[in-house]
Amino acid sequence: MSLLKSKIVVVPLGDVDLMLVNRLASELGPVFNRSVDILKGVKMPKEAYNVIRNQFYATITLTKLERLKANSREKVIGICEEDLYLPDERNILAYCDSLSGTSIVSLYEIRQEFYGLPEDDKKIFPRLYKESVHQLGHLFDLTDCRNPKCVNYYSQMMPDIDNKSEKFCDICRRQLTGAI
Ligand SMILES: [Zn+2]
Repeated sequence: MSLLKSKIVVVPLGDVDLMLVNRLASELGPVFNRSVDILKGVKMPKEAYNVIRNQFYATITLTKLERLKANSREKVIGICEEDLYLPDERNILAYCDSLSGTSIVSLYEIRQEFYGLPEDDKKIFPRLYKESVHQLGHLFDLTDCRNPKCVNYYSQMMPDIDNKSEKFCDICRRQLTGAI
């Protein structure tokens, strides 16, 4: 069965802090009991860029990530610095599509500058980590959790992300163990 286990593939998109991406990749593997590959040198897709909004359309970005998959079982997570949007949302922090096994997390809203605050490196990684675990959780068939302390809690606001823990609650943990 181990041969059939899906890998996690972390894709740094565009000009993104590789130290953060490498650290993320090394911490994601044990959470999902998967090996993790990191791809290199992938640009943000030009076709996803909306010049009027000066943002990238998240759905098209996921389509590009899907094309990078070596097989259908891989779970892909792209990390970028650019501002992402969906037609009905002004901007979004992250997005995923469990059907194609792809997800993306943007550091744009995670960084303190977004809130007009001085940069705080200690805040950046935990936010990126929690949001990445949340998105990958969806790719492993978890649905949003209602427990505000669970890493899988659907958090719309940054204080919610800061307040939740880095771990799954017991319910999500059991569901995940069944899925992986
Ligand atoms: Zn939970």
